[in-house]
Amino acid sequence: MDIFPPSLEQMIDALTRLPGVGRKTAQRYAFHLLRGSHEDSLGLAEAVREAVERIRRCERCGNYSETALCAICRDTRRDETVICVVEEAVDIAPFDRSGFNGLYHVLGGLFSPLQGIVDAEQLRIRELFDRLRDGVVREVIAATPTTPDGEATALWLARALRPYDVKMTRLGMGMPMGGSLEYVDENTLQKALECRLSM
Ligand SMILES: [Zn+2]
Repeated sequence: MDIFPPSLEQMIDALTRLPGVGRKTAQRYAFHLLRGSHEDSLGLAEAVREAVERIRRCERCGNYSETALCAICRDTRRDETVICVVEEAVDIAPFDRSGFNGLYHVLGGLFSPLQGIVDAEQLRIRELFDRLRDGVVREVIAATPTTPDGEATALWLARALRPYDVKMTRLGMGMPMGGSLEYVDENTLQKALECRLSM
């Protein structure tokens, strides 16, 4: 028998689906949401609903956006000749803080035999090739993580992009091995961008 009312159980279950949240933490969050101001809790629920309903992928780069093209792709002051390829949209923020002024391409994952992703169709690769056809892009930076999957994806990209007339580079010195980009500080990222290596 559940000791909590069904709607509370449902909220706890929903919260355990968040990354890094186990049953205990989910219970703590659920009780916090019930105990706190109703306005704040409903505000959170409404913010989640709004974002989920309004936000989609940018048609060009795969970043999150409320419009067909995201704010970065719409910004005409950016350098259209460089594309920084990242695993997820969350990786764009640290690059932008580091001062990178080119464009991005979100793969939506990495090649990962362990997770069953070994097929280019499962990532936004075709969309990347489409962006290279008109010859505007001169350089593609493989900014995938320095994990085995990230390295494998960068190598695959380097091979796949050979027929195109673009320079392929990889982030240079200072990048921690096996690390996620999310936790790399801006100075390190800036240095790694300056020292990018040809592939
Ligand atoms: Zn975009």
